[in-house]
Amino acid sequence: MCKYQLFKWFQPGKACIFAAMADQQESLKPIVSHAKEYGYVFPSSEIYDGLGAVYDYGPYGSELKNNIRNYWWKAMVHLHENVVGLDAAIFMHPTTWKASGHVDAFNDPLIDNKDSKKRYRADVLVEDYLAKYEQKIEKEVKKGKKRFGDDFDEEQFRATNPNVKRAQDKIDNVTGRMKEALDNNDLVALQQLIEDEGIADPDTGSKNWTEVRQFNLMFGTQLGSVAGDSSTIYLRPETAQGIFVNFLNVQKSSRQKIPFGIAQTGKAFRNEIVARQFIFRMREFEQMEMQFFVRPGTEMEWYQYWKEKRMNWHQALGTDPARLRFHDHIKLAHYANAAVDIEFEFPFGFKEVEGIHSRTDYDLGRHQEFSGKKLQYYDPELQQNYVPYVVETSIGLDRMFLLILSSAYTEETLEDGSQRTVLKLPPALAPVKVAVLPLLKKDGLPEKAREVLDELRFDFNCQYDEKDAIGKRYRRQDAIGTPYCLTIDHQTLEDGTLTIRERDSMAQERIAIEQVRQIVHDRVDMTKLLRQI
Ligand code: ATP
Repeated sequence: MCKYQLFKWFQPGKACIFAAMADQQESLKPIVSHAKEYGYVFPSSEIYDGLGAVYDYGPYGSELKNNIRNYWWKAMVHLHENVVGLDAAIFMHPTTWKASGHVDAFNDPLIDNKDSKKRYRADVLVEDYLAKYEQKIEKEVKKGKKRFGDDFDEEQFRATNPNVKRAQDKIDNVTGRMKEALDNNDLVALQQLIEDEGIADPDTGSKNWTEVRQFNLMFGTQLGSVAGDSSTIYLRPETAQGIFVNFLNVQKSSRQKIPFGIAQTGKAFRNEIVARQFIFRMREFEQMEMQFFVRPGTEMEWYQYWKEKRMNWHQALGTDPARLRFHDHIKLAHYANAAVDIEFEFPFGFKEVEGIHSRTDYDLGRHQEFSGKKLQYYDPELQQNYVPYVVETSIGLDRMFLLILSSAYTEETLEDGSQRTVLKLPPALAPVKVAVLPLLKKDGLPEKAREVLDELRFDFNCQYDEKDAIGKRYRRQDAIGTPYCLTIDHQTLEDGTLTIRERDSMAQERIAIEQVRQIVHDRVDMTKLLRQI
């Protein structure tokens, strides 16, 4: 919920991210096409050429998404006695969005090019322009490294090289002007900056721009058959507000005492202007949010608690720790007293996956004001009523999906020189846990394989495959990320053993059929991950 916790991205070195952004389409390409080919993610309504920034999840994608959601729900709700769930409606009373500030402030600055008719987010246009200067700097540094070898002092080089200094001055100057314009909500100054720098439409080179204007990201529609302002309702741009307005309902019905939390997963909708990052930025997406209600004055303790818990949740999945980091917001929204993002190094650079925010009593206070209903808690220990403070954790399910896919996607050259593409998914999240493969399509092997499968399918999502040579079938399972393949051969019929092949090491072992369940269970069980959090 921090579109209007403005400009958290202003930070030294952020321009590196800008540079990477230019290449993001390219760097994502293999993942996007793999996701489509193997039934993970399809463009929405593709037969009609798709719909911008809207995607559908295929057979394996929907399984992976369910597993991620389940992992989050178990960690947040089942493992915390004082966190309970909610499933609020997408539509809410229109005043909700007045109170939350979304009607007035959930905006992005928008600019159109009059010649190309293309629409851009004005701040992103400037970011991409700055990326070129950052690229220049990196090029100079590379040249310097090559020239001076071991004697190269990068820090000194950056501080003294005239070309680097010129480019850095430009970045600092433009960044400063943009920050000031955005901070003051001064769209004329933003427009002036684009004009002064001669920033052109990246696609056509045209500098023929409209003025910059604010664009509200909420999708509006009409309730019932009467048109007009009073019946305009919105598709929720975040799930959090359903939790705030239900605060007392949940607290009373579940007899929770403060501190306690309410967790929810569900769809959210934002009419994003720039939509070119696959499922990283979508117009319809899913959030997993938890609002934790605490006694005023204790919020920093809980903020630290959830910060740590959430990072542990990510790390338990085995994600490379070097690709995960915290990024503190430099500029806080007026109502927040702490905010941090968990960022992941996507193929296009470090980007936010999750936000942890300490939001004071702002949200409940606003709903109390706009509804005229008390949203307070009687604290028996203090013997007083107060509006609780809130610490929230907010993660995008689709962004998390992209994180998992990006860190799992691996192209390998094997010892024999052949190539394989494998999704090294955390086994607990893998859509299919076991593939059962008869070596041949005859001699009773398919029947035996089906027997094994019928036993295992009660415990795991399994797949049966008898088509093509065994090597090809292994590759197919590697590509969808199945942790184990079981091969049934003639020996199986004789002595009740089979071959189990592990996805990442490709190691094969002969084991008794009775051992399979335990071996697979030990590796794919989510409990192991949950215990690490
Ligand atoms: P961004 O700065 O990337 O626009 P945000 O700070 O506005 O995101 P929040 O409002 O804090 O995001 O939303 C919480 C989480 O929801 C984000 O961390 C992200 O994972 C996810 N999210 C937000 N917008 C989108 C979107 N358009 N598509 C997919 N996921 C999103």
